[in-house]
Amino acid sequence: MAARDDTRDETICHPCRGGGTVTSGLDGEQRRITCPWCGGSGVRDPERDAQAAGEALRASAG
Ligand SMILES: [Zn+2]
Repeated sequence: MAARDDTRDETICHPCRGGGTVTSGLDGEQRRITCPWCGGSGVRDPERDAQAAGEALRASAG
């Protein structure tokens, strides 16, 4: 069981670079949203589905 507080480089969320937010420009307007890949923690969650994260991105853009 891995500690979720462990923020080594290998566990940093790449889409948000560990910042917890990503820029969404799906509707032509750039806006910062909570990173759906890590939920804003900045730590990559290997159990999180990238496809589900993409759907969350679209939902927040709409
Ligand atoms: Zn992230």
